[in-house]
Amino acid sequence: MMIRFWGVRGSIAAPGADTAKVGGNTSCVEISCEGSGGEVTRIALDAGTGLRGFGESLLADATRRAAPGHVPQVKLNLLFSHYHWDHIQGLPLFTPLYIPNTELDVYGPSFGGGVEGVLRSQMQAPVFPVEYTDLASRVLTHDLTAGQSLEIGCATVRTARLNHPGGVFGYRIEHGGRSVVYATDTEHYACPDPALVKLCQDADVLIYDAMYLPEEYRGETSMSKVGWGHSTYEAAAEVALEAGVGRLVLFHHDPCRDDWAVVELESRARALFPNCSAAREGQILDLPLDACAA
Ligand SMILES: [Zn+2]
Ligand SMILES: [Zn+2]
Repeated sequence: MMIRFWGVRGSIAAPGADTAKVGGNTSCVEISCEGSGGEVTRIALDAGTGLRGFGESLLADATRRAAPGHVPQVKLNLLFSHYHWDHIQGLPLFTPLYIPNTELDVYGPSFGGGVEGVLRSQMQAPVFPVEYTDLASRVLTHDLTAGQSLEIGCATVRTARLNHPGGVFGYRIEHGGRSVVYATDTEHYACPDPALVKLCQDADVLIYDAMYLPEEYRGETSMSKVGWGHSTYEAAAEVALEAGVGRLVLFHHDPCRDDWAVVELESRARALFPNCSAAREGQILDLPLDACAA
């Protein structure tokens, strides 16, 4: 199982010299796993601006593998946590959408109009020049409900509804005895959210929203962020400890937090949960298959 971070920023892209090391693209995480017959399942978690680079990489790879004179074939499964801009805005610029051999399966929560309703409203005049109904690729949409389990290729996926204005889904993805939980755009209040603790029980990796410093969240530096639907490294460590998570990855960085401030946040988090790091664009985590689960 392989995890690659294509976009780690929250709310809005934050390009520039001060964020170049951590990365400025918004949420997009790749999970890839290989089945027993060698077939590879690729999943994109969210379609923030980071999806553009992922698309270019998939296309370059498919072009290398295509027979001379044949159209390259890209297959991808995309899971939306929710439909806020920073999680959807990379999709219209995902180049494989415009290539006939592309097969894209898009999954997301049934709330907010469901997947197809969101795609249609995102790709239409006057906000975009190409209509969703005119795409050359084959796009299939799948609405999900909270608590649902499903198979996507060689991976098993489970959903849970978490705390965010308008709703959000967290996902647990399992393959070969390994498990990754993606829980962004969520907060818990007085105690760790029981739905999230259950979702990430004994997970190998938890990718978690750590957008605010605790003092920012509580409103000690400016207005309180309670109820805005984002979290802190303190809350991340609490969830990880309670659920017995192996490794914690802090994600959805505030667009105002420069590279040095992310390193500072990371070192504060490590004092609470040592096996912890801040997600960086381009970073790859490999999870070898669990031999006992084969
Ligand atoms: Zn977000
Ligand atoms: Zn959001």
